[in-house]
Amino acid sequence: MATTQIAEKTGRSSTMLWFKQCQRCEGDLYLDRDMYGPFVACLQCGYYLTDTQVKTILATGRLEPERKEGQMKEAVLVA
Ligand SMILES: [Zn+2]
Repeated sequence: MATTQIAEKTGRSSTMLWFKQCQRCEGDLYLDRDMYGPFVACLQCGYYLTDTQVKTILATGRLEPERKEGQMKEAVLVA
């Protein structure tokens, strides 16, 4: 009876995990979705990523700190 429900749950496509990417506790992040759409949260501490962070981790596979200005300045100086 309950097998169809289980099959539906386990058959959900593309559950993604990012290990040790939580910026708060270095825990594991997972991708899920609810009625509001996809979200990424931490398994260990329940931290929710912002929309910007979700886009970043989906695009690059990791959460880059948004501090690249220093590196860009160095590149400009070298050039
Ligand atoms: Zn965490």
